Amino acid sequence: MQALKTVVITGANKGIGFGILENLIQKQSYKIIMACRSLELAQKSRTKLIEKYNISQDRIDTIELDISNSDSIDKFIQEFTTRFHQADILINNAAVAVKSDDFNLEVVQFTFKPNFYGTIELTEKFIPLLTQNGKIITVGSSAGKTKYLKSDDLVKRFKNPNITREDVFKLAEEFQEHVKNNTYEQNGWPSWGYGISKLLINTYVKTLAQNAEVKNKSLQVYTCCPGWVKTDMAGDEAELTIDQGALTPVYLVELPHEVNPDYQGQFFYLQKVEEL
Ligand code: NDP
Repeated sequence: MQALKTVVITGANKGIGFGILENLIQKQSYKIIMACRSLELAQKSRTKLIEKYNISQDRIDTIELDISNSDSIDKFIQEFTTRFHQADILINNAAVAVKSDDFNLEVVQFTFKPNFYGTIELTEKFIPLLTQNGKIITVGSSAGKTKYLKSDDLVKRFKNPNITREDVFKLAEEFQEHVKNNTYEQNGWPSWGYGISKLLINTYVKTLAQNAEVKNKSLQVYTCCPGWVKTDMAGDEAELTIDQGALTPVYLVELPHEVNPDYQGQFFYLQKVEEL
């Protein structure tokens, strides 16, 4: 029997993360580590699946992880290293979206912490724990597209094929500065912290393809949109079920473990590459 591939999914206790977990667990070739900020919620979801599919306890494990907190990320890395040593795939699924229409620096920072900064901190600290030919799959969003920007200059900067990690961080800082000074509109930004957090993370994944360790290890890096999915984040009016929302991330999990230049660093929607 082939060895199981180890997949880490952040925010796997509910929503799309749980959908990806449920899909993969039925395929018999994966062991999943649920990286969740509430171990209690993670355990409940784990028990539900173990009973539903009558699978062995060690197919699903849990580790505490709050991607908004650097200490928690470090603790997670330490615990993961001790217990599991390495993984084949990291799925960055966890994120937040505030429900109210409030738009101010506080909302933007609250959103950027997990969706952008925390996701990147975890990703970069986890790279050494990925196997050769491993994958990093990020659940971005179609909300993170350049069509929502109202400045040609910003669009040009985000679409620059040679954009660097530093450029992406600079754009993140600029947005926050313009929100703080209430000059975001004249600078072409929308009043949408979540959308910009997703545009930044989608764009970061492009730069991740150029990361020296990613190249050395031939890691495949992708970002994607699951579609508009009925979850606590999107609500009941969304069009897709959680099972359907899991399909594009799972498609990326199942792509061959080899770097395809047409796919590397790209954004996927409905299992196809799309421009940001
Ligand atoms: P949910 O709100 O249903 O689930 C989000 C998950 O992320 C929960 O498990 C939550 O944990 C976890 N999470 C949030 N913050 C943190 C944190 N700081 N540390 C660790 N875990 C955290 O959202 P969805 O399932 O809808 O979203 C999943 C992904 O899909 C997100 O990246 C989202 O942006 C993206 N997406 C969703 C769409 C949709 O229509 N639903 C559309 C496009 C993209 P807890 O239970 O503890 O809150």
